[in-house]
Amino acid sequence: MLDMHVISDTNTPLPAEPYHARHFIDGKLVDSADGATTERVSPSHGIVVSRAARGGEAETIRAIKAARRAFDDGRWSRLSGKDRAKVLNRVADLIEANEERLAIIETLESGKPISQSRGECGGAGDLWRYAASLARSVHGESHNTLGEDILGIVLKEPIGVVSIITPWNFPFWILSQKLPFALAAGCTAVVKPSEMTPSTTAMLAELLAEAGLPPGVCNIVLGHGDPVGSLMSTQEDVDMVTFTGSTAVGKTITKAAGDSLKKVALELGGKNPQVIFPDADLEGAADAVTFGVHFNVGQCCNSSSRIIVHQDIADDFVSRVVELSRNVAFGNPLNPDTQVGAIVTPEHNDKIDSHVRAAVAAGAEVCLGGASLTVPGLGDQFYQPTIIRGVTPDMAIAREEVFGPVLSVLTFRTLEEAIALTNDASYGLSAGVWSDNVHTCLEFARRAQAGTVWTNTWMDGFPELAFGGVKQSGQGREIGSYGFEEFLEVKSLVMRIGRTREPWVKKRSP
Ligand code: NAD
Repeated sequence: MLDMHVISDTNTPLPAEPYHARHFIDGKLVDSADGATTERVSPSHGIVVSRAARGGEAETIRAIKAARRAFDDGRWSRLSGKDRAKVLNRVADLIEANEERLAIIETLESGKPISQSRGECGGAGDLWRYAASLARSVHGESHNTLGEDILGIVLKEPIGVVSIITPWNFPFWILSQKLPFALAAGCTAVVKPSEMTPSTTAMLAELLAEAGLPPGVCNIVLGHGDPVGSLMSTQEDVDMVTFTGSTAVGKTITKAAGDSLKKVALELGGKNPQVIFPDADLEGAADAVTFGVHFNVGQCCNSSSRIIVHQDIADDFVSRVVELSRNVAFGNPLNPDTQVGAIVTPEHNDKIDSHVRAAVAAGAEVCLGGASLTVPGLGDQFYQPTIIRGVTPDMAIAREEVFGPVLSVLTFRTLEEAIALTNDASYGLSAGVWSDNVHTCLEFARRAQAGTVWTNTWMDGFPELAFGGVKQSGQGREIGSYGFEEFLEVKSLVMRIGRTREPWVKKRSP
């Protein structure tokens, strides 16, 4: 057994019975017409956490129609920004008041530590509040120099009905990166959470109703990609799809939405590097690398799953990261001291392991971990913190998203080489650089192909700052004013003043 910090116990009791998650259509909580349900078994505790209605075509079409009606009759889209902000702020209050209830079920469905779930669920309130502030800031532009008798105005209007499709790794947080911004813009929505983590999205329905969101403005359909997600990507009544998930499904959605030319915004995978120069604060860098790869058991689009470390310090730096990784508290996600919890499914655990086996077969060396982890009393749906050295840029482990606590170590000699390795990837979500030299940091930041660059830190995020990726990590941006703009359409208005327009048809002489 690996010498590491494993926590198996907790004082938090398990829920007495599974949560019954229902769809939310036109303001009502409903089960599926055919009574179909899906059970979610906790990855850490093996109990049935939730029994969720499993949506089919009937529920999905009803939800889309409800969103269309609600948009077209203006019950939300024609409200003032002030009135929309009032509702969104009330939702934020209710989210914060319900943090613990949301956090417990988020932990049991996803396997993530309770401290993290509390931060994500309670912290999501801030995203709702920030979006509420944007609801009052929508403005376009005016053109007063088009001629004496013309005034040109560019208006911003809500895009319409938005389909929101979310993954299992940050269910409530990612929902809150999308839904309040769409609502702030005046859009109506149909939401589908992952079939593995439906409950906190379903719980939000109760909070939306309590906050006074008019019926039909946000509809939630629980269920699988097929048929729910695919109908949400193809129906004519939907104007835009915003999706967070795998690059493969993102491509499928883009193709499906193409037939009706919907706008598509995508937040997809990443293979995010941290580059470490010898002049950096190496203690801080080692801590950030350990955090970057083990946070959410590496099941994170922003996971820093590869480091590119200067050859002169590589041995020392890797030893520091190995030591720190042994001290990270893995184990029972209900214990408040646990930092890293369970892997989402047994199949995913096997997939992580097969990535590690393939790297070893390709000639890489495992210097920590490299196998499942058994937590006493909770089973083996956990994975050891794993560090792999001797990785070359051509190996699959250096290029593919592993989505587990597995760090690949590559080395460099010059800044040029570090930038080339950073950009040698099909993904471009985020990248980081550690150096005390501002010139090194700035040159790296300018040339790295990534939607976010961190210098001397990792994964600091703020609602004000746009988030998203380049290359195959996605298209469009989320949060910040740029993310908000995605939900707005632009309309030009040309106003002639007085009756000065030259007639096009010339008068004929009799
Ligand atoms: P996934 O692509 O398997 O599923 C995401 C969602 O899409 C789920 O709700 C699923 O039911 C739905 N879906 C599946 N097939 C569909 C289809 N044909 N049409 C419409 N919807 C469909 O992803 P996942 O396994 O839940 O999440 C992990 C992936 O998400 C990783 O690749 C990760 O990098 C990515 N991710 C990206 C970000 C980001 O912001 N860039 C954030 C979190 C996760």
